[in-house]
Amino acid sequence: MLESAVKLVDTHAHLMDPAFAADLPAVMARAVAAGVTTIICVGYDLPSSRAAVALAAQWPQLWATVGIHPNYLGAAPPTWRAELMDLARAPRVVAIGETGLDYYRNYTPAAVQRQGFEDHLALAAALGLPVIVHCREAEPEVVALLQAYARPAGGAGVWHCFSGAEATMHAAVAAGYYISFAGPLTFKSAEPLRAVAACVPHDRLLVETDAPYLSPAPFRGQRNEPARVCHTAERLAALHGLSLAELAGLTTRNAYRLFHRLGEAAA
Ligand SMILES: [Zn+2]
Ligand SMILES: [Zn+2]
Repeated sequence: MLESAVKLVDTHAHLMDPAFAADLPAVMARAVAAGVTTIICVGYDLPSSRAAVALAAQWPQLWATVGIHPNYLGAAPPTWRAELMDLARAPRVVAIGETGLDYYRNYTPAAVQRQGFEDHLALAAALGLPVIVHCREAEPEVVALLQAYARPAGGAGVWHCFSGAEATMHAAVAAGYYISFAGPLTFKSAEPLRAVAACVPHDRLLVETDAPYLSPAPFRGQRNEPARVCHTAERLAALHGLSLAELAGLTTRNAYRLFHRLGEAAA
């Protein structure tokens, strides 16, 4: 198969970030040329969630998620739950998040983060939508909450930019979660992460950029963009003994299964 025929879904990008304000059309053109024709724009606070919904209304390739990142929960208005519930009903919203726990940065007290994460998990379950989970230095607590809100048949959500241990990965998969890899999978020092990535069941693998962050090698440190998701996909394909086309096919099927509204509203 020709490489241009490969189709990939970038399951996590922040194209509403000011980093893209000046040249989004060029970024989109490069993504489409690279076969990245479906991109999920992930909200991280109320304004960025609104912006993701607005972008998804403008670009047929873009879909939105709405949520408040744990680092921004402390600054969210007290009405955020009701506002998020309203936003979640907007067209082309495919998931709730990103949410989770981030104990690397202490912008938000841990108890506030935990309550906010539970509120996102409950909202997603009530709406039948998957959750986008962010975790930094909080693996045991994130696993415990994913288990408390498990949907073992699958479709619970995705652990984005996974960087955890193999046991953590298996626990998340058992709770119904998909495992998504970003640019760090390609970093020189990432041998332990690659060993975990090689063990993820094929039907739970996803790829993402987390643009504008986490550019893969050989672009580490630069602004990231969806066209570069192929570098992470190539690395993941090699770890699983698959061609890029095979890995692209299975991760794209996985993305459409998990984010079921991608298919519903495609027409
Ligand atoms: Zn994140
Ligand atoms: Zn993110």
